[in-house]
Amino acid sequence: MAKMKRDRHPMPLLDAAVRVNRFDEVALGYTLEMAIEEAQRCLKCKNPTCEIGCPVQSPVKDFVALLAEGKVAESVKRLREVNRLPAICGRVCPQEEQCESKCVMGVKFEPVAIGRLERFVADWERQHGFGELEPVASRGVKVAVVGAGPAGLTCAGDLAALGYQVTVFEALHAAGGVLMYGIPEFRLPKEIVETDVRRLEEMGVEFRYNVLVGRTVTIDDLMEKDGYSAVFIGTGAGLPKFMGIPGENYSGVYSANEFLTRINLLRAYKFPEYDTPLKVGKRVAVIGAGNTAMDSVRTALRVGAEQAMIVYRRTEHEMTARREEFEHAEEEGVQFNFLTNPVEILANEDGWVTGLKCVKMELGEPDESGRRKPVTVKGSEFVMPVDTVIMALGTTPNPILLRTTPGLQSNKWGCVVADPETGATTRPGVFAGGDAVTGAATVILAMGAGQKAARAIHEYLEKQAAVHA
Ligand code: FAD
Ligand code: SF4
Repeated sequence: MAKMKRDRHPMPLLDAAVRVNRFDEVALGYTLEMAIEEAQRCLKCKNPTCEIGCPVQSPVKDFVALLAEGKVAESVKRLREVNRLPAICGRVCPQEEQCESKCVMGVKFEPVAIGRLERFVADWERQHGFGELEPVASRGVKVAVVGAGPAGLTCAGDLAALGYQVTVFEALHAAGGVLMYGIPEFRLPKEIVETDVRRLEEMGVEFRYNVLVGRTVTIDDLMEKDGYSAVFIGTGAGLPKFMGIPGENYSGVYSANEFLTRINLLRAYKFPEYDTPLKVGKRVAVIGAGNTAMDSVRTALRVGAEQAMIVYRRTEHEMTARREEFEHAEEEGVQFNFLTNPVEILANEDGWVTGLKCVKMELGEPDESGRRKPVTVKGSEFVMPVDTVIMALGTTPNPILLRTTPGLQSNKWGCVVADPETGATTRPGVFAGGDAVTGAATVILAMGAGQKAARAIHEYLEKQAAVHA
């Protein structure tokens, strides 16, 4: 028997010097040989703890075992029974904190590279063609999904598979939510999201774009006039936070959401071929150190910044960005200013940003989040010359739906109140999940919420049908 490889297969990457000027995907993906070899590291555990680590309980052991035998079509078919967006999850999920963190191989060696294998089988399927969809008998019952992010897409797919007539209402002109407008092409090519959306259309899901529910139409309209028997709210958390420091209104200050949307969705870097302009300076400071900050700073480099830097009041150890993204950013030449906190944005007489006034910080006692609280170092003020500032400090849900939907309760953070197991809100027939409920979180948690809500909506509608029979 061949000797087991202890370490995982490294992911082939586009060279940093090449990739920094373009939007091509950084991670190149495994070859078939690499994928099979990596899959053969799996121990086929009796108790596959990796699956407990996955919020949608992807059948990791089964799909990896099929791949290890070279049965790629069967492998992806098994995975897709549970996970509707495997090519996306394989690229952006924090597997190191989920399935891979629970992998038994990881106790002594490196865990099986589950995410890379997930990506491999999903990409293989896209290249070799999707299998025929099994026909589903229609129940003739309409369900509305508000928001086409990972929560909404998962809920819509699961309900369509159960025979419901699903319509997704999306405020933007494209489906995908953050997958389309937030996460850049070099991490998640848009064609992958579009393919998964087309797959849902083939299942019968209808998409209506440029519909802002709460303004164009209300949830009351959908349920009382348009005949939808249930509604799922998956509207995310797209409202950016600012620091509240002087100078945030100057020209050259962006929220990360605006900056990334202009580039990813509206292709501003191709202006005037595309309609949206974008002015990015030579020295760009991004405030924050999560995934959004890392995406913004790496994007700034790709649209012409000569110096792109992260400004973060804590240290490398408290950053919430995925380790891999931090490393890729470092390789690309991003500068990291840790223990640095902005206190004012400076501008010239025309109102254009010229600098960022900062103070140095040191770590004090742990705060309520358990992380050591940064404290200002007295007399440490200094000015960083920059011409663009991007605020990547997190987001909250947009209040429009809550304001226009009677009976829908929110919590003190402006999130929709919903049962974590079913997504049921305080309004009968209305369910919710994803960032709209939890605040900014992850793709897989949003998908898990969409999956649970689809099950709960089905149960609710079955009960309603029984009552009215
Ligand atoms: P969203 O993806 O926000 O989708 C909500 C959708 O609803 C949007 O399309 C929006 O236009 C629409 N909508 C909103 N209001 C209305 C309305 N009233 N009517 C109609 N439509 C409406 N997570 C990871 O796991 N890995 C990562 O690497 C990662 N990177 C990220 C990078 C960035 C830049 C950002 C911003 C987030 C990142 N995240 C990442 C977080 C992740 O993308 C989100 O947690 C996830 O997309 C939430 O899914 P959702 O379906 O709840 O909402
Ligand atoms: Fe394979 Fe790791 Fe899951 Fe065990 S825990 S089945 S080794 S992937």
